[in-house]
Amino acid sequence: MASVSTPPDCYSCHGNANLHSLPPRERIAVDDQWRVAHAFGSAVPGWLVLLPRRHVTSIAELTELEAASLGTWQVRISQALRTVLGCEKTYIAQFAEAAGFAHVHFHIVPRAADLADEFRGPKIFQLLGPSAAPHVGDVQMDDIAASLASELAPGPSAAESSPTPRDPLAREVRQRRQRVRSVVVPERVIRSLEEQVILAEWV
Ligand SMILES: [Zn+2]
Repeated sequence: MASVSTPPDCYSCHGNANLHSLPPRERIAVDDQWRVAHAFGSAVPGWLVLLPRRHVTSIAELTELEAASLGTWQVRISQALRTVLGCEKTYIAQFAEAAGFAHVHFHIVPRAADLADEFRGPKIFQLLGPSAAPHVGDVQMDDIAASLASELAPGPSAAESSPTPRDPLAREVRQRRQRVRSVVVPERVIRSLEEQVILAEWV
């Protein structure tokens, strides 16, 4: 894990230092470099932030390792938001200017197809903060987080993987199919050879 200093007034560092006690909406996905969380105080369901595990206040301070996975995270999060929420595109912005929030964090915001023109582009930030109430509630944020977490989980998808079944019955079915195949193939070869012999006699 990356070395982490935790300034007492940094909200992000406090979360990074207490990962296992965070609610699901605050730890949607985590690796050694980055954490994905749902933004609080937003009127937009699925408004996420991507933040480094270290206390960093400028993008210029990111390490090569952090930089290497930054783009991948931004794209994967955008894909997950599209899958889960059906948004048309995502907006990405990084400021880290508010008191207590100097820790670098990329806002990744789903832009719905029907979002009113008055909130498009940078104006989407009118939907974040005290004046944006009513905010997305904790229960809804945790629900969205659960769906996003399964989209962002590491490893191949179920469709791509073909593990040995743990269920004994399923394992038996697979073994039987393999045995059947091993019998069928020679029979077909034999038939083919017989047909060739018959053909040879005709010619
Ligand atoms: Zn910090």
